Amino acid sequence: MTTLPKALRSDLAESVPFSTLEVVTERESEDGTVKTLFRTADGHPVEAVLMRYRDGRRSLCLSSQSGCPLTCTFCATGAMRFGRNLTASEILDQALHFRRRESVNHAVYMGMGEPFLNVDAVLASAMRLPDLGITHRRTTISTVGWMPGLRRFVDDVEQPIRLALSIHAADDEKRSVLMPVNVRYPLADVLAECRRYVELRRRKVFVEYVLLAGVNDSQADARVLAAAIDGRAFKVNLIPYNPTGVYEGSSRETIERFKAVLERARIPATVRLTRGRDIEAACGQLASAR
Ligand code: SAH
Repeated sequence: MTTLPKALRSDLAESVPFSTLEVVTERESEDGTVKTLFRTADGHPVEAVLMRYRDGRRSLCLSSQSGCPLTCTFCATGAMRFGRNLTASEILDQALHFRRRESVNHAVYMGMGEPFLNVDAVLASAMRLPDLGITHRRTTISTVGWMPGLRRFVDDVEQPIRLALSIHAADDEKRSVLMPVNVRYPLADVLAECRRYVELRRRKVFVEYVLLAGVNDSQADARVLAAAIDGRAFKVNLIPYNPTGVYEGSSRETIERFKAVLERARIPATVRLTRGRDIEAACGQLASAR
């Protein structure tokens, strides 16, 4: 605002900060994906990702917490120190950072953290995204199935915001090993809550399933998943494992065979396009300040 006197500008810059987040570093992948590491005013690291697709889609992956208190074994964020919940402004400022560079039209709450552990700030930020050009229909919140927040979301949110559930194994024993949160909130209860969402909002729930070689990728695992969900309420997104140093990813052929089992059971399934792996910006790789 060069029309304002210089002294006033510097006063304003100090008393009315432009953003709650400071940019620390930014990296761009060969595929056009951009990952930005921010720092909150009190020093917590936060990462967000801009994904660019050939069809013009510009999708933001937003973080809801600095780090994550849950300890899913395949995810790098769970291995870093948990900081705290982010405020609604800190979530929106991630989006505004990218919006200043170019227009954006999709957002997923799939960055660091469990959105439903921070449900108030997540919903408050999601309500403002349309002002940035991201409609509710193009906004997706992903959860491990944290029941208190999930219930709140299903009960209170009438806007057509999409819901995604990270399953990764459909039997409780296996899921509890991969995702200890399953001990507290077993899958059957979480799936029942998802079905309530489908009935109320008339929209399918996305199921996310990371394929780990020899762990959850057999034909039998696929049949267990197919028995747990049905194709009228759920749509499966199979995710190739992004290396975090713990597991091996399943081969292309294994992923295709897994997908075929689901399709025979009339469950729609797609394989997620991997983006930004070369800059550790892909799913499960967000973990700054190691
Ligand atoms: N806590 C929420 C939001 C994060 S979403 C949730 O888990 O749903 C991040 C997505 O990336 C989740 O589906 C998660 O399971 C997946 N993911 C985690 N680690 C991964 C990895 N190493 N490779 C591929 N996907 C991974």
